[in-house]
Amino acid sequence: TMRLKGKVAIVTAAGAGIGQATAREFLAQGAQVIATDINLDALSPLDTSGCKTYKLDVTDKDAVTAFAQDQGAPDILFNCAGFVHHGTILDCDDDAFGFSFDLNVRAMYRMMRAFLPAMLEANGGSIINMASAVSSILAAPNRFVYGATKAAVIGMTKSVAADYVTRGIRCNAICPGTIDSPSLQDRMRAQGDYETARAAFIARQPMGRIGTPEEIAKLAVYLASDETAFMTGQTITIDGGWTNT
Ligand code: NAD
Repeated sequence: TMRLKGKVAIVTAAGAGIGQATAREFLAQGAQVIATDINLDALSPLDTSGCKTYKLDVTDKDAVTAFAQDQGAPDILFNCAGFVHHGTILDCDDDAFGFSFDLNVRAMYRMMRAFLPAMLEANGGSIINMASAVSSILAAPNRFVYGATKAAVIGMTKSVAADYVTRGIRCNAICPGTIDSPSLQDRMRAQGDYETARAAFIARQPMGRIGTPEEIAKLAVYLASDETAFMTGQTITIDGGWTNT
């Protein structure tokens, strides 16, 4: 059975990793998927699979406004775009701080603000925001500004959920542990010794492995579907047991 049949879904950062896996899973569950990314080439595999694809830099205010006007109301809005800055507070200068908050927080605020009026007029929908276990939930070494941005995502998620709870809008956040994606591969390579870096990521997961983008995509389908009609304002942690230790 198609769990998202008849629904329209917009996904940001669908060019890679969790966003791409989720666009595919939404499609497989019968949704009409509008897959967006700053990198149009990265979306080409989704083109051939039946998604509509658009170049969208979520940090571009005018582009977000124009895109929302163009699209109208989706049933599902998955805000997935985000960047992991590596370092402590002393490694994070003003520009790095600004970039992370612009992409991880302000862009998500703009997407929700741009799409909410049409979604309210259409009597509701499910907004899913990508947070992280590294947020208000727990700290990880060298994730100073990243953790701060993802804590902000949780705050925005809860606030939107509270304000529109009687108007058909649900808003939940996904908080993954470590997930194998292109950017994780880059982060492991950037640490010099790939195997040691990978072993360190695995070691902090009690389950003894890194998660897959597909495992997060399945959770996104659940939150997008009417199966979770009674769930809003929640932060769903999916982390191989990391935060259970
Ligand atoms: P990724 O980082 O490998 O890929 C991200 C995609 O985002 C790329 O296709 C890139 O082109 C696109 N992108 C970058 N800047 C953009 C912009 N300004 N506008 C639109 N698209 C842009 O993907 P991932 O690792 O699966 O991460 C996706 C989300 O999941 C992020 O918010 C990340 O913080 C979060 N997350 C990831 C992990 C993990 O371990 N991978 C864990 C927790 C949370």
